[in-house]
This record gives sequence, C-alpha cells and structure tokens, in this order.
Amino acid sequence: MPYSSIRQAYATLPSRFYARVEAMPVAAPHLIALNRPLAAALGLDAAWLAGPQGLAMLAGNQMPPGVAPLATVYAGHQFGHFSPRLGDGRALLLGDVQDQQGHVREIQLKGSGPTPFARRGDGRAALGPVLREYLLSESMAALGIPTTRALAAVQTGERVYRETPLPGAIMVRVARSHIRVGTFQFFAATQDVAGLRVLADFAIARLYPHVAQDTQPYAAFLQAVVAAQAELVARWMLVGFIHGVMNTDNMAISGETIDYGPCAFMDAYHPATVFSFIDERGRYAYTNQPTIALWNLTRLAEALLPLLAEDEEAALRNAQQALAGFNARFHAVYFAGMRAKLGLVGEQETDETLFQTLLDLMTQEKADMTNTFRGLSQARVLQGAEAPTGLPESFGPWLTRWRTRLMQEGGEDWAARAQAMRQVNPCYIPRNHKVEAMIRAAVEQQDYTRFHEMLHLLATPYVEQPGMAQYATPPSPEEQVRYTFC
Ligand code: AMP
Ligand code: MG
Ligand code: MG
Repeated sequence: MPYSSIRQAYATLPSRFYARVEAMPVAAPHLIALNRPLAAALGLDAAWLAGPQGLAMLAGNQMPPGVAPLATVYAGHQFGHFSPRLGDGRALLLGDVQDQQGHVREIQLKGSGPTPFARRGDGRAALGPVLREYLLSESMAALGIPTTRALAAVQTGERVYRETPLPGAIMVRVARSHIRVGTFQFFAATQDVAGLRVLADFAIARLYPHVAQDTQPYAAFLQAVVAAQAELVARWMLVGFIHGVMNTDNMAISGETIDYGPCAFMDAYHPATVFSFIDERGRYAYTNQPTIALWNLTRLAEALLPLLAEDEEAALRNAQQALAGFNARFHAVYFAGMRAKLGLVGEQETDETLFQTLLDLMTQEKADMTNTFRGLSQARVLQGAEAPTGLPESFGPWLTRWRTRLMQEGGEDWAARAQAMRQVNPCYIPRNHKVEAMIRAAVEQQDYTRFHEMLHLLATPYVEQPGMAQYATPPSPEEQVRYTFC
C-alpha cells in the first residue's frame, strides 16, 4: 500500500494544537508536476501518486483510508505587529513519512480550501505563486540551502479571485517540520506553559534530538534553533535570495526556508533590494535579513522564557546567551562562504575588507551578483591572464588586491581552484524576470515548457548548459521586474 506509510505524529499532540479539517474537493484536478526523485526518496510510489488515487489525495479530493489531515495553530509577528491567532489558513498537514535514510518528513497541501484559521481568506492558491514556490524551493535545494521541497503541483480546474480571476492550484510541499517561531508564540501568548513544553519536547525529538541529553535541554534547543536560522540566512545572503516576508510565522524552527511568497533573487547587487509589493518600507530588504532573523529569534526566546530556567533571572541569562550565538554563527558561515566564492582557502584579517570592497563596487556599478562571482571563477582570471567578463575597469584595483591575496596562499593550480569556485558560484539562479515570464506562459497560454525547462536547468545550477544563455543573462531595463506579488 503506497500510502500506508503516512502517519500523523502531530495528531498525537493535545487537540488545542490543531484543527481536524477535511480538504475541500476541487472540480477538475490535473497534475502539473510530480517530483519523482523526491517521491522515491520519501519511499512513496510515484506511479501511485500520479494515478487516480494519488492525484485525489494531492488535490484534497479524497484521502486514502487512515490519512486524516489537520491544520496547525500558530501566532506571529507580521511586519512587526503581533497576531495572537494565525494558523494554517489554507494548508493541511497530511502527515509524515519516513524517508529512505530514516528521516521523518511532513507532507502538506497548500491551497486545499479554508480551515478554521482562514479568517477572510478563501483557502486557495493561485497557479502563479504555486509555480514560483515549486521552482524556487527546488532551486534552493539544488543550491544546497535548507528548504521545504516541492513534491507536486496540481491544477484545480477552478478559478481563484485575487484582483482578477486566476487559475487555481495546490502546492504539495515537504518539510522536516512545519513548526514555526509563531507556533511557540501562540502558546506563550495564551500563557499555556504546559502546551509550550509539549511543543518544545516534540520539536526537540523531531529536529534536535541531541539537546535532550543536555542539562538544560530547552536552552540548548534555543541555541540550536539560533544556529540553524543564522546559518540559513547566511546562505541566503551568499546567493542573493530575498525571502520577502520574514514574519515570525514564516521562520521554521528546523532552519528550512519556508513560505515562498513574494521572494526573489537579486540580479544587480544592492543591499537595499526589495521585491515584495507589500513591503513598502523595506523591512525585509536583502541587507536587513540577518537583523530580522535575530529579531524573530528574540521573539522565540521570549516565548520560551518559562522553560529556560526556574527563576526569571536565570531564564533571561540563558536567553541572552543563546541569542548572543547568532552573530558568531552568521559570520562564520557567511565569511566561510565568501572565502569559498572567491577561491580563498585560508583566513586573513583583511579578508572582510576585501569582501566589503567588492560588494561596494558591485553596488556602485550595479553589477550582476551571480555573474560577477561566476565571472571570477575562471582559471585565466585567477592567473591574471584575462579580465573577468562584464566587469567595468573600476574593479581593476580590487582585482589586483584579490590576486595578490590568492598568490599569498601559494599553489599554482588555478584550474582546480577555479573549478572549486564554480561549485559554489552558480551560473543559474531563478532570475525574477524569467520566473515571471514562465508564470505568464503557464497562466495565459497553459504553456508549461518554460516551467519544465527552468526546473531541469536549476536542478544543476553549477553546470553550464549549451543554448541556455538566456537564463544566465540579467534582465534588460525593459525586462526588469521590480515587484513580486504573492
Ligand atoms: P503568509 O503571509 O503567507 O505567511 O500568510 C499569513 C497567514 O494568512 C497564514 O495564517 C496563512 O495561512 C493565511 N493565508 C494566506 N493566504 C490565505 C488564503 N488565501 N486563505 C486563507 N488563509 C490564507
Ligand atoms: Mg506563512
Ligand atoms: Mg505564504
């Protein structure tokens, strides 16, 4: 039985943690995409999933016996304002499976109809955002960045109404856990310390089992979450990813990228870049992401205070100590990543200035972030035999400094070094104008050619493919997409 392996661990938690919800059937489900390698890794039978029973489950039309979906409750700070009760308004947790390595993975439908947490929402998702989430989350996975995965996308055959009628779709996503910072905030806000403890114990067992042995398991848990999110955001920064809605309900305790809304990758490097139409004040701009992550983690620490120690003072101390780990972890991952991007092996005190000077130049010259690093990743450029393509002359003095620094490390094997750089500097990212063009083709012409082409290309983002130069080219001024909607 291909689905019998779906269990529902979250349902063993007290009933105030979730609501049992039946998905609302859709008119004419049609499978847009099924991630066969992921299905196989999860121990699910792809042929069954693509067949009538599997599709009925993925579309929320009919659950196989034993699969009883639920919507989880959570709270969250949205753009800095606290909402005591959010919850899965349009998402349903089908349950969890054990993958081939023995890891537990949750499967969730997004866009499967309203839940008791839907407030004024229709519980549905439009095709465009589903395709964006599918493509971007798979691209992030291929870039080695922790993320929810895309198992399937289903067209509903129904219209959803945003500003205009749009084709509806359901996104089937997979995560180590969907517990968010906001899930802890919900129990803290309702002063439900027992619930808080149950949630923390569940999250520890699922995500950070090693901290259970610690003399102060909850403080160690907080430290582990701080480290995971610091590492995650450092990795976003290294590829120019802008999440767009880093509300506390959109930050997973697991350290996976979650809730792909108006997110995008930058083309031209600029620290203040914002794509999200709703982020008018740039709260979630590229350069603010580490600060916001720490702000969100501070909300998590506050929520966990009752668990952190017997007396308040000790709890505060534990919280502060855990939060203090953020900067160290962020910088360690970020600077190690920058070193690798620039082909450096050792560490020198002046490296941070070297990085910052490059970023300042890129900002000043509106240099394409991805192509700048990829352009540097060539043996002849490292050797100084060739200038990197596309960079203006103003980079000259910096290039000299960088080459001097490279020479200091010795080793003349430039080819190997360039090769290593090309394994961390992608040539393909899901460029926003290409994503938008892909969405337009699907929504307006039911043409999924671009979607599948990009999905294929972005699965190996470090490997140059012949005939695919359009996907490695920054947008012309007319092609530039400044705003992204969700
Ligand atoms: P987000 O901005 O995507 O993080 O969503 C914030 C909250 O709104 C979450 O509780 C979502 O479940 C809910 N939500 C977003 N879109 C819808 C929708 N179309 N119908 C119901 N709830 C929604
Ligand atoms: Mg959300
Ligand atoms: Mg969302």
